[in-house]
Amino acid sequence: MIAKTKSFRRRPIAIGNWKMHMTLAEATAAARQLSELLGDARLVEIVIAPTYTALQAVGEVLKGTGILLAAQNVHWDDQGAYTGEVSPIQLKDAGCRVVLIGHSERRTIFGETDEMVRRKLIAALREGLSAVVCVGETLEQRRTGQTAAVVRAQLEKGLADATNGLFDRLLIAYEPIWAIGTGQVATAAQISEVHALIRQHLAKILGPDSAEAIRVIYGGSVTPGNIADLAAIKDLDGVLVGGASLKPDGFAAIVKTLEKARTGPH
Ligand code: PEP
Repeated sequence: MIAKTKSFRRRPIAIGNWKMHMTLAEATAAARQLSELLGDARLVEIVIAPTYTALQAVGEVLKGTGILLAAQNVHWDDQGAYTGEVSPIQLKDAGCRVVLIGHSERRTIFGETDEMVRRKLIAALREGLSAVVCVGETLEQRRTGQTAAVVRAQLEKGLADATNGLFDRLLIAYEPIWAIGTGQVATAAQISEVHALIRQHLAKILGPDSAEAIRVIYGGSVTPGNIADLAAIKDLDGVLVGGASLKPDGFAAIVKTLEKARTGPH
């Protein structure tokens, strides 16, 4: 168990989600540039999630840099007749250490349910991967005052099999759907409010020590221009970055700002 002390701080994390972008040559070139720009960043954990076809090649480039390789999705079974799917064992085999689960694009475009999230999460953790479970509300749900209920329900169902032993590799990403790829970033008050309810839920199901140790990050139109304000938010442990992670220098600037915020007073 992670000891809770007054000075206890969770290590900030920056995850770049490259979605369905970049050819192999582009992905490996971007990874090379990132290793040059961020090879010495130690205070912030850095994770890159390229498209499936580039996983292994990007993993080779990142070897020895400390930058971790992630997948954008995973299936819940180890193997089987699931055309088009990739298992946790295969992801590990390709060099992945981390996996995104329940990204809003998976939920809204591909019909992924909280039950699928639950199964994927347990499978990923069982195989030794770290899992980033994404939750968040639509604009309509926010406008009609349902944000807390929606996020709580996603956590309740998605983390239904939560047990302390497995969940030391769990991260939660709060990603309001209306902020993803729209240029509209959530306010500090909106982020703090939802992060607090996420941590309350984690405390309820896993106990206060685990809830204190698990990182809760934000995603939605994070850029080099707004990261300083985001990094100042109390209880924000990092960011999940889509569009702005496609440019290595922009993503590096985001990491450096997070790092600077960590070294300053908090
Ligand atoms: C995402 O895909 O998780 C995301 C937050 O995208 P963007 O940064 O482009 O809003």
